[in-house]
Amino acid sequence: MKTDPPDPRLHALVEGIVRIAGGDLTTRIPHSEARDDVAAVIAGINLMADDLQAIYQELEERVESRTAMLREAQVELERMALTDPLTQLANRTALNSALGHALAEAARGEMPPALLILDLDSFKGINDTLGHSAGDDVLRMIARRLQEAVRGTDTVARLGGDEFAVMLPKSNLVRARRVANRILKALSESLEVGDLRITCGTSIGLRVAEQGQTAEELVMEADTAMYAAKAQPHSSIKVFEPALLYARRLQSVMITEMREAIRQDQLTLYYQPVVELATGKIEGVEALVRWNHPERGLLMPDQFIPLAEETGLIVDLGHWVLRHAVRQLRDWQQELQVDSSFNVRVNISTTELQSLDLIEHVRDILTETGVDAANLVVELTESMAVNGGDVDQYSMSGLRRLGVKLEIDDFGTGYSSISYLRKLPVHVVKIDKSLIDGLGDNEEQRNFVAAVLHLIHACGLEAVAEGIETAEQAQILAKLGCASGQGYYFSRPVPPAGIAALVSG
Ligand code: C2E
Ligand code: MG
Ligand code: MG
Repeated sequence: MKTDPPDPRLHALVEGIVRIAGGDLTTRIPHSEARDDVAAVIAGINLMADDLQAIYQELEERVESRTAMLREAQVELERMALTDPLTQLANRTALNSALGHALAEAARGEMPPALLILDLDSFKGINDTLGHSAGDDVLRMIARRLQEAVRGTDTVARLGGDEFAVMLPKSNLVRARRVANRILKALSESLEVGDLRITCGTSIGLRVAEQGQTAEELVMEADTAMYAAKAQPHSSIKVFEPALLYARRLQSVMITEMREAIRQDQLTLYYQPVVELATGKIEGVEALVRWNHPERGLLMPDQFIPLAEETGLIVDLGHWVLRHAVRQLRDWQQELQVDSSFNVRVNISTTELQSLDLIEHVRDILTETGVDAANLVVELTESMAVNGGDVDQYSMSGLRRLGVKLEIDDFGTGYSSISYLRKLPVHVVKIDKSLIDGLGDNEEQRNFVAAVLHLIHACGLEAVAEGIETAEQAQILAKLGCASGQGYYFSRPVPPAGIAALVSG
């Protein structure tokens, strides 16, 4: 039987399909003039190859542009990971890596790096008084001044809050001190915030790296020096010395001990009577915390409250004080038959007022003890009431809503304008001891206190005077219309039993 020879186009067709399937999208199958089925298949395959090629090309272009975008994003991410978003300075991570680099160079025989750590002295006040956005402006201005005060090869970083660092590679003590002085001068010039001119002091700690030091040790030691500088009254530079570590260790021991003291009830409350000036009757007490330290004896609040505030421990401490003071009041109500208006005053610090669970905590204690909110007075400082941010306002209005009385402590020591008094969300104003001190022999002072009392009354608020030490002061205040007073003249702060004796006696 005779068969037709195979169509030569079929061979080319199969070969073409194999090549296209193998990924060679430029392959085309030669076509003939014939108009049969094979020609139609060839044309179809070629069209498909055209489409595939176009799609593939487009895909390749897209992959390329996506890769470029990814690369850009990665560069941006890396930049962000190393930059402080507010000031665009280096951040802590970037500083550490620059330090690591400089220390490695020093290990190879270069001069060692020097590290300055800076902390603004009055930044918190600026933030509280002028608001956070003004605070941010100040940080940005400080950042710019720092950058202008150093060389491009130095690293300027913001470590968080109002803390900055400057790393000088290949430095020494003389040079580093010179730079620190230049920075101190640059930062001491006033800053324009809105239409105000303000100055913001700076404390600088300086440490030149020693052979073999790690970046971590260097930062810790410069930081230690900065804390020592901060203890000076004015802007200053402190060069690290090993003795500073000892002081810092003591402080950290004290923090640990304080935490224990709160847990183990080593704290104790003394109470100082608040007296109705006209009659001498005790109308309430102020709770004042003391720390019964196992080795150091009875510590006064100024020996540990500042540290508690700095470390946030004040929140736990404040909870302890509130709980014990209110429980004590309940005991007195049950045991001493005190007046239904007899109240206890508790001091609250800024940090506590800013803790969101303060209201909850006060409510729990009142519920637990069954004490009426009106018998609890919370003492705040003037600046807290005047400059408080949103959280402070929230806490203050929450406390008011509970029925707790609010009082401004140490009135007259703050820097707020007296006209604020009208707007303050408080019930009572406690006039500071410094205004009472000169009352006896100074006519001008008497007039001044009289005016302050007028003002307090005109604002519909109650007045209490603190720090009354003489009968004369008490008489003058009573004559000037001050309803209540507190001070050594009536009684020093005493343990609860002392109050029981005073109230019953
Ligand atoms: P403060 O709230 O203004 O308390 C009044 C301080 O003046 C008390 O000192 C008191 O003993 C003292 N004082 C009272 N009368 C006189 C007087 O006639 N003459 C003189 N020279 N001083 C008088 P203390 O107990 O050392 O408390 C000092 C500060 O510590 C308090 O000032 C308050 O700001 C803070 N503090 C005390 N307890 C607590 C507390 O539980 N929590 C918080 N956050 N702070 C507290
Ligand atoms: Mg007080
Ligand atoms: Mg006071």
